[in-house]
Amino acid sequence: MNLLDKQESIKNHEITAADNLDQFYCKIEKDNTKLNIFLETKIDEAQKIADEIDSKINKGEKVGKLAGLVIGVKSNINVEDFHITAASRTLENYLGSYNASVVENIKDENGIIIGVTNMDEFAAGSSTETSYFGYTQNPAAPGRIPGGSSGGSAAAVAAQMCDLSIGSDTGGSIRNPASHCGVMGFKPTYGAVSRQGLLDLAMSFDQIGPFASDAGGIALMLETIMGFDYKECTTIDWDVPDFSNLIGPGAVDSLKGMKLGVVKQFLEVSDDDIVDIIEGSIDNMEENGVEVVELNFDYIDLCLATYYLINYVEFFSATRKYDGRKYGHRIEEVCGEEVLRRIHTGSYISQKEYSGKYYKKALQARSLIRKEITKLLKNVDAIAGPTVPKLPHKIGNSLEPMEMYAYDILTVIANLAGIPAASVKAGEVNGIPVGLQFQAKPLEDAKIVQLMAGFEQIR
Ligand code: GLN
Repeated sequence: MNLLDKQESIKNHEITAADNLDQFYCKIEKDNTKLNIFLETKIDEAQKIADEIDSKINKGEKVGKLAGLVIGVKSNINVEDFHITAASRTLENYLGSYNASVVENIKDENGIIIGVTNMDEFAAGSSTETSYFGYTQNPAAPGRIPGGSSGGSAAAVAAQMCDLSIGSDTGGSIRNPASHCGVMGFKPTYGAVSRQGLLDLAMSFDQIGPFASDAGGIALMLETIMGFDYKECTTIDWDVPDFSNLIGPGAVDSLKGMKLGVVKQFLEVSDDDIVDIIEGSIDNMEENGVEVVELNFDYIDLCLATYYLINYVEFFSATRKYDGRKYGHRIEEVCGEEVLRRIHTGSYISQKEYSGKYYKKALQARSLIRKEITKLLKNVDAIAGPTVPKLPHKIGNSLEPMEMYAYDILTVIANLAGIPAASVKAGEVNGIPVGLQFQAKPLEDAKIVQLMAGFEQIR
């Protein structure tokens, strides 16, 4: 059943919130030890909320748009009384002392938060292997990584442990695991969703966004978490679109006349079997009325270096608060190798004599990339291409840092430019999911939802 229908069924007393929760909790009890998706769950609390929602519905009282739906939250987003560790030993004893704005939004709409999910330490990774609490298994491709850094949130939806989840995306951390786990993941326009209560990785890139198994679920969560937040100065004051209206059997018609750009270089950097699937999906959309144009992006080789340089500097700055005084551990003393690499390199680049040489240059490169991608988007509704250029590796294969970073080449662009982007399952290579990425102009998030909704009808 799709999520919009399920939401209706809960509101119409056909399914109770308590039963919905129970079914997911059974799945968690059965498989979480093996898959390591949730780091912490609170079933008693969740049951209480489910009962309250059912009683409201029974009394005919109005309930919110997530009423009775079960939700997982990445463990770098504050949820009161949960261990918000960002999967780091640094924060192993930190209990969320308040709810992030997005968590408040979810609760206001009567969503039931069941638990917090595994991730790469401080969101710095693409595989969920760097978690202090151990790796997460990919439910859709056993024995392989789920992608990252929001691997737990993507896997939670793929393993049917919750209806919806949220994660954070700094350079692809929603879209990458969505692609590897075969679910949908959406990174909103920068500033469309409040970051208040999110532990920063690199604040000029970070955005919170949803995972779901269908476009209806994405629409519901976007409507819930998007919008101006007086507590967060980078949020945009705009009219949040009615995303749910774009969903339904008619969505396929909205593909007609849409203009999609396909960037030659995005295909060139991707493995052949991934390109085959993506080209098949684009042909399929073309047969359903989409107009396809070829585009060129000449700065692909600049993207990873620009992204990682800025990421290191911003992350170094963000970590200065973990000096041991408030949270117990000094980050450098207990963190993993990748986090330490970013702190050391970020500190080096931040020094005055090197800032001009590296950081300022990276900012210039970022402007150039943003300008180029904006130019390409001017003549199309969206850009379509692979989300990740490679399939997820097998757990236990250890990758060099540059090999790990290479997973991100197609996702960092949207963060560098602040544009919305999402991944939807396009197909499989030997049973391993492959994601199709859509990117659009700032605040045209609705166009991407429309494409996702149309594509899921013809896939
Ligand atoms: N893999 C990228 C990084 O390590 C992206 C991480 C993210 O989006 N949180 O920085």
